[in-house]
Amino acid sequence: MRLQPWTTRLRRKNTVAAERATGLLPAEVQSQLYSSLASLYLPLDESKQEFRIVTIAAGRFEDAIACELEVVSPVDSKPFEALSYAWGDSQPSWKVYINGTRHEISRNLDSALRHLRHRNRSRVLWVDALCINQTDLEERNSQVKHMGTIYKMSSQVLTWLGPEYNNSDMAFDFFETMPRDPDVHWDPANIPELEEVYTLRHTIAGNDLFDRAWWHRIWTVQESGLCPKLHFVCGARQLPAEEAFKLGVCYFKHLYTCCQDIWYARFKSTAGQPGLGDVCTALGKLEEMRATNHRYTFGQILSKFMSRHCSDPHDKVYGLLGFADKEEASLVVPDYAKPVAELYEEVALGLIQLTEDLEILSMRLPDSYKPERLPEGFAIENLPTWVPNWSLDWDSPLLHDLDDRLSCLSYYNASKGSRYSSNSVACGLLPVRAQFIDQVAILSKDEDHMDAPNLAEFFQDWRNMLRITENPGQLYAKCSSITVDDAFWQTLCCDDSPHRRWFRAWWEWCEQHGCDPHQLMSIQSEYSRAEINVMGGLISTSIKMRRLFISKDTGWIGLAPVDTLVGDKVALLEGGRTPYILRPTNERGVKETIQKYRLVGAAYVHGVMDGSEWQDDALEYIVLA
Ligand SMILES: [Zn+2]
Repeated sequence: MRLQPWTTRLRRKNTVAAERATGLLPAEVQSQLYSSLASLYLPLDESKQEFRIVTIAAGRFEDAIACELEVVSPVDSKPFEALSYAWGDSQPSWKVYINGTRHEISRNLDSALRHLRHRNRSRVLWVDALCINQTDLEERNSQVKHMGTIYKMSSQVLTWLGPEYNNSDMAFDFFETMPRDPDVHWDPANIPELEEVYTLRHTIAGNDLFDRAWWHRIWTVQESGLCPKLHFVCGARQLPAEEAFKLGVCYFKHLYTCCQDIWYARFKSTAGQPGLGDVCTALGKLEEMRATNHRYTFGQILSKFMSRHCSDPHDKVYGLLGFADKEEASLVVPDYAKPVAELYEEVALGLIQLTEDLEILSMRLPDSYKPERLPEGFAIENLPTWVPNWSLDWDSPLLHDLDDRLSCLSYYNASKGSRYSSNSVACGLLPVRAQFIDQVAILSKDEDHMDAPNLAEFFQDWRNMLRITENPGQLYAKCSSITVDDAFWQTLCCDDSPHRRWFRAWWEWCEQHGCDPHQLMSIQSEYSRAEINVMGGLISTSIKMRRLFISKDTGWIGLAPVDTLVGDKVALLEGGRTPYILRPTNERGVKETIQKYRLVGAAYVHGVMDGSEWQDDALEYIVLA
């Protein structure tokens, strides 16, 4: 699990939904814009993986933009830089001359090209809006497959964040001045030049810069994740991504340990004060993708970036295809004409069969957390419960928690290493062998801990549900060695054993001060503030979007999706790593004897995560619908 402090999580709650960026323009605008370009876009040879690059002629900022298109292939291409930018919502109405003919481009692209154009020499770029014939669906389908290769081939990617506005130059001043050496403290008393930039206005400018459309668009993930070198560009300012990454590392190192007091003293309060937590988390995520772009399964990548926007829900899959390995990529043949639900189901099923693992099922988020804002064309009817709805722009802090939880799946082995092996029987159905171990009898209130007015009372309610105070020594479920109290707090952090020892200190912080970050300093503990804070982060991740439950027969304690109801079944599934909460539907499956279930979601059940309850001979066939 990535160690994220509690205080960062509290702040993320206030993140404002970002400006929506579009990947592709509405059809009618596209056709107006590009019909005149048809003569420029001679067909590309798919067998040679041909693509186009564009040479921007030298010019002053105010000069008209002139460029030449050229067809190349991976074996004969000259060096080029690739542009990564958000298309923006504006109608294309800015002039550009391609091979001598006048055409129109979006304002954001016009601005990017003017800022990036050299005065005295030409510049060779790959720019999606210019290099792909956007009116040719067949060409788009085939170029989408090569996008990853094109970005990998580029000498560097220029990340255009937009022109200078909202004090973005101040953000660059901050990023350039703050120490990027982990051993140098963020203390203006020792480094006088920090005095100028270590201010609230600079951190607000930093947050604004990192909330621009580029950070919220799906295509920019692989554009910036796969290339050898990356540069952030905003107006006339530039910063190599490597330098920004170093700053992110230093921020988390100093702010949660040695330099925390200086930071709090400078900015007085953390509540509502924009620290750079979100900025550095975004940077960390990008750096991680660049360093380990094949460490994640394609399913994990799809889930990690579900919050990114696009104007066509197919792109939630196609836009990330560059990260898929060869086998994963073979499951997806880009086709913008295919119904989205069909695409998602095909991908989910393909990944389950390829990996023989039910990881995909852990990506189901509770319906009650569905984003309210649904762009047109993004509502998908009748998606099976076992297929993640990637089309929704889920809130990104929720996805951080989901992501952390997915990264813990490998610690669990509830189904004792069994592999998924069934073949699909019919559209929408996932046949699977299941072992039912109990059902949900008692549930905590449907209240998110982030919304609780008093965290100490919130957790005390949970303890009361388990009768811990009145019966402190009672033993847990089938165990003769641990008490319900122990099982309770190990459940709170999903039994993250390396960090268990920090729990008592965290509980003291919670009970006495309701986890107020300003009171962290007053806790007397052998553990550091950072450790106690991290324990809070683990608990927050474990219980987010979940409720505490007790099972009917055995008295298992667990965490189940917030949508769980009393009477829902707790099941182990072949190929799964955790238990799942299932709800029978009224209909029967394909054969009359097979029961159909809806997947409510993955669960944590203390005492069964290691496979000790798994019994091969207790399995029965069911179908998930
Ligand atoms: Zn420090």
